[in-house]
Amino acid sequence: MAKTANNVDYYKCSFCGKSNRQVNRLIAGQEAYICDACVKICVEMLETEINNEEASKVEELPKPKKIYSVLEQYVIGQEEAKKTLSVAVYNHYKRIGQKKRKEDVELQKSNILMIGPTGSGKTLLAQTLAKILNVPLAIVDANALTEAGYVGEDVEDILLALINSANGDISKAERGIIYIDEIDKIARKPGATRDISGEGVQQALLKILEGTQVNVPIPSSVHQQMQEMVTIDTKNILFICGGAFNDLDKVIEKRTKGSKMGFGANVTSKENKDVGKLLKEVMPDDLLQDGLIPEFVGRLPIIVTLDPLDENALIQILTKPKNALVKQYQKLMEMDNAELKFEDAALKAIAREAIQRNTGARGLHSILERIMRNVMFEIPSFDGHTVCTITEEDVLLNQEPVMKFDGRLSKARAKG
Ligand code: ADP
Repeated sequence: MAKTANNVDYYKCSFCGKSNRQVNRLIAGQEAYICDACVKICVEMLETEINNEEASKVEELPKPKKIYSVLEQYVIGQEEAKKTLSVAVYNHYKRIGQKKRKEDVELQKSNILMIGPTGSGKTLLAQTLAKILNVPLAIVDANALTEAGYVGEDVEDILLALINSANGDISKAERGIIYIDEIDKIARKPGATRDISGEGVQQALLKILEGTQVNVPIPSSVHQQMQEMVTIDTKNILFICGGAFNDLDKVIEKRTKGSKMGFGANVTSKENKDVGKLLKEVMPDDLLQDGLIPEFVGRLPIIVTLDPLDENALIQILTKPKNALVKQYQKLMEMDNAELKFEDAALKAIAREAIQRNTGARGLHSILERIMRNVMFEIPSFDGHTVCTITEEDVLLNQEPVMKFDGRLSKARAKG
């Protein structure tokens, strides 16, 4: 405390030295004072520090092993794909972050082609990678590109989807990932009516895959009915194309065993694991046979193949990943004071049914939804604690699971 000339007590901010008369507020500590203006400055300093820390965290690129270990938590099997992708995306983002010097070797962009059956995890891999790297992701369907006919517009639509995923932040979008699904559907098929559009779309995609500046009309922020033009550079956008390429195994088999097979040899009835093995031997030329144009294949130098999922893998998909379907249903039931169990045989039966549907892991959700429909209808109305065990018969015979609540037995109401 100090005294003014006319002997009145006053206090001073220990940081800027201003007296309590010169500031709005003066806060007292044990042996010091701080004024409101200095508090404000301190808060700003701390905020800048936190922001810088967060910015540097985003910049920190996870190493391939780290990327792989996170993929492990979400994606069952597909070990080679997970490894190849971990390295590929690491290299891609390392290339973007590279500080350029004149004498440096130019690192070229390497887009990725994922080949694997429906429901084997292609989209899931792309989604998980975007999550790990904290970059925006756009998922587009190549089928739509053929149908719309006017090619130029479609390419812009893909980029618009990415800009939207980046909440309009163009520089963020320019480092994003675009996953183009069903890429095999834009193959050039001799004699097919889609012949021209398929090749046309491949041509249009070529430019953005390689890297170019594209003007994209986006809805105006000022007036909803108006559009603004933004320019986006695709040079650092990572393109991942995915497709089932259903006949590719036959093309590969013909190439690898061609001479031994002879005319009329049966190449159609193969086990899933054989298809998976064959696909691993894919060469760019096989893709040309399957209707992709050479320039397009050239822009997708990293080829990743995914295995068809067998019974064991499907059971694991049901139960193991962080957000596994069984875990999700159990969580839902838990919220209604119910315990949900699955017999091992029931899980097997679900996996087998999914294999019959031939849609990979995609079928699992609808099968479970069918089994759980009435259980989920009934359980929230029970007052006590309920235990419900899904049995093999429930799956195979499509019967209602038994629910046991507070020691009493109950069957869900008849289906209808
Ligand atoms: P694709 O793109 O290969 O047709 P998706 O990635 O869309 O298949 O898979 C469909 C669903 O099946 C996903 O949402 C995911 O839940 C599940 N799934 C597919 N493959 C796997 C896998 N290998 N591991 C875990 N879940 C998978």
